[in-house]
Amino acid sequence: MDLNYTAEQDAFRAQIRAFLADNLPAAIREKVRLGKRISKADSEAWNAILSTQGWLATNWPKEYGGAEWDAVQRQIFEEEACLAHAPRLVPFGLTMLAPVLLQFGSEAQRQRFLPRILSGEDWWCQGYSEPGAGSDLAAVKTRAVREGDHYVVNGQKTWTTLGQHANWIFCLVRTNPDVKKQAGISFLLIDMETPGVTVRPITLIDGEAEVNEVFFDNVHVPVDNLVGEEDKGWTYAKYLLTHERTNIAGVGFSNAALATLKKVAAGTMAGGRSLDENPHFAGRMAQVEIDLMAMRTTNLRVVSAAAAGQAPGAESSMLKVKGTLIRQELTSLLRRAAGPDAMPFLPDYLDGGDNQDPMGPEHAASAAPTYFNMRKLSIFGGSNEVQRSIIAKTILEL
Ligand SMILES: Cc1cc2nc3c(=O)[nH]c(=O)nc-3n(C[C@H](O)[C@H](O)[C@H](O)COP(=O)(O)OP(=O)(O)OC[C@H]3O[C@@H](n4cnc5c(N)ncnc54)[C@H](O)[C@@H]3O)c2cc1C
Repeated sequence: MDLNYTAEQDAFRAQIRAFLADNLPAAIREKVRLGKRISKADSEAWNAILSTQGWLATNWPKEYGGAEWDAVQRQIFEEEACLAHAPRLVPFGLTMLAPVLLQFGSEAQRQRFLPRILSGEDWWCQGYSEPGAGSDLAAVKTRAVREGDHYVVNGQKTWTTLGQHANWIFCLVRTNPDVKKQAGISFLLIDMETPGVTVRPITLIDGEAEVNEVFFDNVHVPVDNLVGEEDKGWTYAKYLLTHERTNIAGVGFSNAALATLKKVAAGTMAGGRSLDENPHFAGRMAQVEIDLMAMRTTNLRVVSAAAAGQAPGAESSMLKVKGTLIRQELTSLLRRAAGPDAMPFLPDYLDGGDNQDPMGPEHAASAAPTYFNMRKLSIFGGSNEVQRSIIAKTILEL
């Protein structure tokens, strides 16, 4: 296995870097750089630019409008996009639902839904978790009962990220309550404008309502919206989760956050010296940099194997655990560097408004909300505790 980039990959990186320099709108770049909140309009604008270039759906085949990049090219794009302060691409349609449709959906579903993800017509959200089904996802209770050419859906999903922006939700629903729980689940696509769907925001510790509860009250869903076979949804759900976990490693995000942290630490004075000369702070910075270097190498190993056609297995659990711990540590150090300047809560400033002036250095206003927001990383996509059990069983064979 060769972990060096080829000349072609270096040229590809240069092409991506030049495109980002020329095409990422300055206002959006600045919001991301300062840790401000990205609006739906910002996301849609950036998606449209990438879509015009043919670089929005990097993992899809060309025949469906994708870039058909291999895993190494996608990794290079992610690293460069993060360093350029591009907004993250919302994954639900692009990298979660689409692979499931490509693998298990009907051709009619692919022709109907994939172009609408590229055009921005549809915004998808993920309806997996329920109040009684998180880590134990197979316990989902939301019921779908077939009546003629429709399913009638009743139940509740929760923690639905960006559901307030979405017009479609892919859901795990129970179609058979009388068999082993994994054997009675189906994967259903639901138009959120159907009567009986209600979305309610949940405000999190960072003050933002990024997640929602979604209620289904006698919602009629055409049977054409069933993906694959009835009661086989657990297989499709698990396939989707491996895609979700690899993305969570966040190498690009951590590279960019480390670069910011180094600049901030060099420019922040405390006790007569800069933070990067404070042994305690510098020690933590060095440790997280070492961890990131090691994870980048592990990630390259996994990515290189994926480019050679091997599906990631339990390695995606390793990347998820280590990647999220590194991201959390970086945001923790940035918050510490901001000190008391991280304390004021400035929602208008974070939303891009100009009614509130930030205190202290420019990185301080978003330091605490970002730190709080990143706590989610070790919970979603399968909690880190659960990932450790997977590693223990499948890699360590304990
Ligand atoms: C910000 C945020 C966004 C999210 N977005 C979405 C979304 O868009 N769509 C969606 O469907 N879901 C989403 N989720 C839900 C997420 O997937 C679940 O929160 C997660 O799977 C954990 O489930 P739970 O919250 O029910 O906790 P529980 O499963 O009740 O777990 C509680 C605690 O027990 C531990 N635990 C549970 N089982 C085990 C075990 N077997 N071994 C060891 N420890 C265990 C967990 O690690 C955790 O610490 C989101 C969550 C958050 C916080």
